[in-house]
Amino acid sequence: MTATPVPPHTPRPIVVAVDGPAGSGKSSVSRASALRLGFDYQDTGAAYRALAWSALDRGIDTRNALSVIASLGEFDYRIGTDPDDYFVRVGGEDVTDAIREPRVTSVVSQVASIPEVRAFLVSLFRRVIATSAQPGIITEGRDITTVVAPEADVRILLTATEEARMARRSAEIPGQTAEITSRQLSARDAKDSRVVDFMNAADGVITVDSTNLDFEQTVQAVVDLVVRSQEE
Ligand code: C5P
Repeated sequence: MTATPVPPHTPRPIVVAVDGPAGSGKSSVSRASALRLGFDYQDTGAAYRALAWSALDRGIDTRNALSVIASLGEFDYRIGTDPDDYFVRVGGEDVTDAIREPRVTSVVSQVASIPEVRAFLVSLFRRVIATSAQPGIITEGRDITTVVAPEADVRILLTATEEARMARRSAEIPGQTAEITSRQLSARDAKDSRVVDFMNAADGVITVDSTNLDFEQTVQAVVDLVVRSQEE
């Protein structure tokens, strides 16, 4: 009888899911935590933004769901998952900065509300998680703890009071009055929360409230949760 070869043990990556509203600091905190842990980092908001950018670039009316859905087949999207080498490309063009422009921000929620778009991107996000070659991957967005990776090893909702989030976002957009920034942020949160609930922690999701924490303390809180999950 020939012995069945035992496949080499390849531990799967530790999956960390981080959700939160705009201005909660989830992108910068997730990226810095990934860097500290030697993990990959996936920014899912960037994919929705890249799709919105690509639709605008092709002159597609983002209010027309059928046209946006028809464009999915041609959507050639690449994102850097190395937290030290972050980039977003569409069809070979670097759009890392362009996807943050107000014209993209103002239509991204429309694009993200189309169920076919969400299904398409969710499977892309899961593929990126499954193929991570690092010891772990932190994926951040709005529905990671609930839809993309509900089985994640660590599930975090990163929150802060509305006042703190507005103040942080205003500091990031210096050319615009705090009032306009606040209004835009609230409007986007309101539109987005019609699609997914990222204001309340689902069962088993740990809330990290960063209102009274500085950036470094928030990163430490996330890193501690990941380290502790591996000790259990
Ligand atoms: O995180 P960020 O603000 O870059 O996300 C941009 C937009 O992408 C959000 O306003 C939301 O419409 C959409 N989004 C989403 N689900 C995610 C991540 C982002 O619907 N997981």
